[in-house]
Amino acid sequence: MGNKLIKIKCPVCGKRTQWENNPYRPFCSKKCKLADLYGWLSEEYRIKINPDEIEDEYIEEVER
Ligand SMILES: [Zn+2]
Repeated sequence: MGNKLIKIKCPVCGKRTQWENNPYRPFCSKKCKLADLYGWLSEEYRIKINPDEIEDEYIEEVER
């Protein structure tokens, strides 16, 4: 009758964390939960606005 704790691996940082009594599961902490959320958002943002294109346009503007 061991008190078996369910351990999960955080999908953001890969740290082993506890499933029970973890309000941020499947993440290890609030920080990783938010990091995952903002990761998705910033990835979508990056598709719409390509930083390389912005830089090229800026360079052309300077050379003119
Ligand atoms: Zn984590």
